[in-house]
This record gives sequence, C-alpha cells and structure tokens, in this order.
Amino acid sequence: MSSPSLIIAVDGYSSCGKSTFAKAIARWLGYTYIDSGAMYRAVTLYAMENGIIGEKGLDRKKLIAALPEIRISFEQDPATGSSVTLLNGRNVEEKIRSLEVSQWVSEVSRIREVREHLVQQQRRLAGHGGVVMDGRDIGTVVFPDADIKIFMTARPEVRAQRRYKELKEKGVEITFEEVLENVRERDRIDSGREVSPLKKADDALVLDNSDMSVEEQMEWIKEVIRKKLEEKEKKDADRS
Ligand code: C5P
Repeated sequence: MSSPSLIIAVDGYSSCGKSTFAKAIARWLGYTYIDSGAMYRAVTLYAMENGIIGEKGLDRKKLIAALPEIRISFEQDPATGSSVTLLNGRNVEEKIRSLEVSQWVSEVSRIREVREHLVQQQRRLAGHGGVVMDGRDIGTVVFPDADIKIFMTARPEVRAQRRYKELKEKGVEITFEEVLENVRERDRIDSGREVSPLKKADDALVLDNSDMSVEEQMEWIKEVIRKKLEEKEKKDADRS
C-alpha cells in the first residue's frame, strides 16, 4: 500500500505487543519502523558494561556525562530482514532484551537528560515521516502532532504471559511470577515518573488487545489509516 508520509505513534504499557503491531503496520505501509524502547535499553546496556550501573546502583552523573559517547543506530539484518539495534556500531539486539536490562531500563529512562538526548535522536531518525515509532511518550512528547496516535493496553496477566512465553522460548530460566512482577514494576515506574510519564495523549485511540489476535488488530488499524488518508486527501483537495 502506498501513501503519503504519515507519522504513526504507538504508545502503551510494557509487553502489550506494541512492537509486533508497529512492525506489521510499517510493513503494510512500506514505512520505517523505529523501536524507541530499544534505544533506552541500549543506553542501559552501555551503563551496565561501563561500570555506571554496579553494586551501588546507578551513577546518574556518570551516565549523563557519558551520553555524548553513546551512539545508537538501527540496521536491517540481511538474514532475517528484521531491524537490529547497534550500540556504537556493535549489534546488541539480543543483549538489550535480557532480564537484567529490563530490570534497570525504567530507572535509566526516568533521567531527564537521557530522555532529551534520545528524543532528539528519535526526531532525527524519523526524517520527513513515513514512520511508525513505538514507545511510551511518542504521541505526547516526541511527536505531539503525529497523524495517528494509538495507546495500547492489555491486562497485566496477559502481558506477563506473552513475555514469559517469549523468554522461555529463548531458554531463559524464569518463573511466571517474576515476569509478572517485572511487568507491574515497569508499569509503576513508567506511569509515575516525573519526566514524560506514560500516559494516553488526549487525541490517541485506545486499543485494548487482551482478547485480540494480531490479524484483528491489523483490521482495526487499516480502517483507521484509510480514514486518515481520506481525510488528508479531502483537506488537500479543498486547499487546491
Ligand atoms: O518498549 P520496551 O519495553 O522495550 O521499553 C523498555 C523501557 O524503556 C520501558 O519500560 C520504559 O521504561 C522505557 N521507554 C521509555 N520511553 C520510550 C520507550 C521506552 O521510557 N519512548
């Protein structure tokens, strides 16, 4: 499907299936997909690997000072065709998905300077549109004028079950209760933080996918996109 360069923001709670959904939309439209969570995860990994997160916890000042040295980019894996995250040129796609990173990432992402640094990069990566970006603050902070804003949610148990299955498939030793605890803890920190808390933008459409398949979600969004494109066409026609 070809279309003008929309910006589509997909925000919501952890493990809601945001990235699966956002990737599917990008594929359907032939757009670029940007995983903003991967960027916060890559900063967290950098902190873990460089003694900024250690036994004494997170050294905020040291992390802020290190920000100019942290370069995050994305490239296509030729074998799988999917996007991989690079940290200073190194493929860290697998490492950033570890439970250790998941446990620290919300702490890192509540730091104002980290957010400012990444928001700037996210806007640059989006160029002139034709992009689907998922995260927590895309429709509220990164692109407050996005053409379409989706706010995704699902019951915590459903989200934990999805994440648990993913981790088990990767051979990670973990219990369902531990995953549920991590999901709840991240919800709490993400929604309660002072800087850019996770919240629905006033003009976002809510999608609760607790009981929906990916196909059903796609049917829903395709209709939303069709309407938006018609609206745009009409506006352009009225102008000319
Ligand atoms: O999307 P994902 O679960 O990979 O994101 C990891 C973490 O990064 C979130 O729990 C949240 O703390 C943080 N994040 C954020 N703002 C974004 C994307 C992610 O604060 N736009």
